[in-house]
Amino acid sequence: MKKITIIIPAYNEQDSLPFLYERMEKLINSIENYEFEILFVNDGSKDKTIDLIKEYREKDKRISYVDFSRNFGKEIAMIAGLDYAQGDAVIFMDADLQDPPELIPKMIEYWEQGYDDVYAQRKSRKGETWLKKFTSKMYYRLLQTLTNVEIQKDTGDFRLLDRRCVNALKKLRESQRCSKSMFSWIGYNKKAIYYNRDPRVAGQTKWNYRKLVNLAIDGITSFTTSPLRISTYIAIPTFMALVIYFIYVIAKCCIEGVVIQAFQAIILLVLFFSGIQILLFGIVGEYLGRIFNETKNRPLYLIKEYNGKRETNEN
Ligand code: UDP
Ligand code: MG
Repeated sequence: MKKITIIIPAYNEQDSLPFLYERMEKLINSIENYEFEILFVNDGSKDKTIDLIKEYREKDKRISYVDFSRNFGKEIAMIAGLDYAQGDAVIFMDADLQDPPELIPKMIEYWEQGYDDVYAQRKSRKGETWLKKFTSKMYYRLLQTLTNVEIQKDTGDFRLLDRRCVNALKKLRESQRCSKSMFSWIGYNKKAIYYNRDPRVAGQTKWNYRKLVNLAIDGITSFTTSPLRISTYIAIPTFMALVIYFIYVIAKCCIEGVVIQAFQAIILLVLFFSGIQILLFGIVGEYLGRIFNETKNRPLYLIKEYNGKRETNEN
């Protein structure tokens, strides 16, 4: 029997957990022919979250958990979930029931059809402010223009991943993680299913704008070195201005027969040296970018098949 692990990162979710447990239990009992594991990652909760999880495990051995020493953040909770998951496929889900578990059978169906990454795409987001929706939309657009890997729109972490995706993701061990871009980066056969995102069942969102901005910056800087190019891009017009102004000054001197004036010389010098400085910054940036990419130690490629054999990324 195939096993499916549902990974649920939880941080101060004591109010949501009873709803979640009830709905998950009903759901997994209704799906036949699969074995389920519900893997909670308790991300250093300060409330009764871990007590509740332990209580559930007492009653039901399909529940397991990883308990963090402190709050590491959702991204790290997710990779820990992947490390401890035993399933042939995993499903990421939030603890607050914003991801309707009822989509799971559909995900499994597509998985059985051979898709490796079945992700849930939001048609709507209830209970979130327009500002959050707007900023998240702009952010994806920015991320997409900066990178050349396709990023799925309106997609959170709610998705089913085949074991080979899990093994691939386990190889990306960078500490500043941006799962969204990693899901895109690994590739494989992707399939979207659509849903309406519900508001939280209970408790408060763990995100605030400071965390979101940090996540956004991590997302961009961990995935692309294009911001380092800014310097090079500024250097080019600076040098062009220098050349144009130089030609203008020289031409004027020749035509009018006057010597070059002090302010003109100063402008030329300023343009020349600032141009050189910005350019050197750009060069340092380029090398820094290379080092940055190498130190991530990512595998250089991942393969789907070798001589007709499915690659499962086991080693
Ligand atoms: N979460 C976590 N660690 C954190 C913050 C959040 O494990 O530091 C979990 C949280 O318990 C929930 C999921 O990540 O299961 C999504 O968090 P939340 O619902 O607060 O985010 P939102 O849905 O508002 O984006
Ligand atoms: Mg939520």
